[in-house]
Amino acid sequence: MHVVVDFDQCDGNGLCADAAPEVFELGEDDVLRVRAEHPEPALWPATEIAARGCPKLAITLRNDA
Ligand code: SF4
Repeated sequence: MHVVVDFDQCDGNGLCADAAPEVFELGEDDVLRVRAEHPEPALWPATEIAARGCPKLAITLRNDA
């Protein structure tokens, strides 16, 4: 899995970081950071929940490793 965030769409609300804190982190500057661009399989369910829950549809999950 490859996590791609469209930072032009992201408004920094932090919902993805709540859903998958191992993968997404909201900095003190309210800028989102991807902690794991290629999360291990155990984190895929939470990552998928985070992507589906993004109100800005800014998270794309690719199958390319
Ligand atoms: S849920 Fe979407 S809009 Fe919110 S911080 Fe994450 S990527 Fe950005």
